[in-house]
Amino acid sequence: MSGETPDRYPQPGSGHDSLSSRPLVDSHCHLADARLRDEVDETIARARLAGVTAIVSVGASGPIDTDRLAVEIADRNQGVYAVVGVHPHDASTCSDVRITQLRELAASPKVVGIGETGLDFHYMHSPAAAQEASLRRHFDLASSLNKPIVVHCRDAEKQLARIAEEAGMPARGGVIHCFTGDASAALMFLELGFFISFSGILTFRNAGRVREAARLVPVERLLVETDAPYLAPEPYRGKRNEPAYVTRTLAVLAELRGLSADAMARATAENAGRLFGFAV
Ligand SMILES: [Zn+2]
Ligand SMILES: [Zn+2]
Repeated sequence: MSGETPDRYPQPGSGHDSLSSRPLVDSHCHLADARLRDEVDETIARARLAGVTAIVSVGASGPIDTDRLAVEIADRNQGVYAVVGVHPHDASTCSDVRITQLRELAASPKVVGIGETGLDFHYMHSPAAAQEASLRRHFDLASSLNKPIVVHCRDAEKQLARIAEEAGMPARGGVIHCFTGDASAALMFLELGFFISFSGILTFRNAGRVREAARLVPVERLLVETDAPYLAPEPYRGKRNEPAYVTRTLAVLAELRGLSADAMARATAENAGRLFGFAV
């Protein structure tokens, strides 16, 4: 889905000659998710065609097998990295055993972060107390492994900031992925040292509040992501998302900040490389 479009931005994959000259990172997706895992090779190939040069693939949903698969996929694909943890939806399953398993998995050199952890008080699939306990354990794990933390936050910005402050940010920092808060929440997270990552939500017509926040995050703290297979950007909204579509969110972010898509691709890729510790 990267052919000719009437877009005024140069679209990666459409034959633009700057393609190979700039990096582009999808800083958060789920290649091991049941909706993508059977088509991983094709999905990665389409991402490369669209100009994506690195992918950070998060396990974290369901059983530990998802994290294991995320690491296997990263191990066999150049430019694909893994993040392991327990999603806040599954926080009730964050046992001692699970933490030990995550610690073992994180020994792989392709594991570049811990998460996604966090608080989701919108869906509340695990009780708030379990989510908070799991979040604190992930802060400890990230700090002790010297890796950045990948955080999911939905309708719980203040609670999350309080826990981050109490737990202490890992030395390697962290990211609030798929940011859905307002400008004041963005400022609060920036103050704590987080990067802020924007997903396809940025392209939704009704997401003015999120675009407003995106305008004030310093460029050196911005990341861009798909969160595939979820949250496909316009014009694919409602369809299965995939890393190739990160170009759509990138285009909107670039426009909001008055940069070319190439310049924004480079800036967000360099930020991802700095956060996760890989070369871009
Ligand atoms: Zn998330
Ligand atoms: Zn995610």
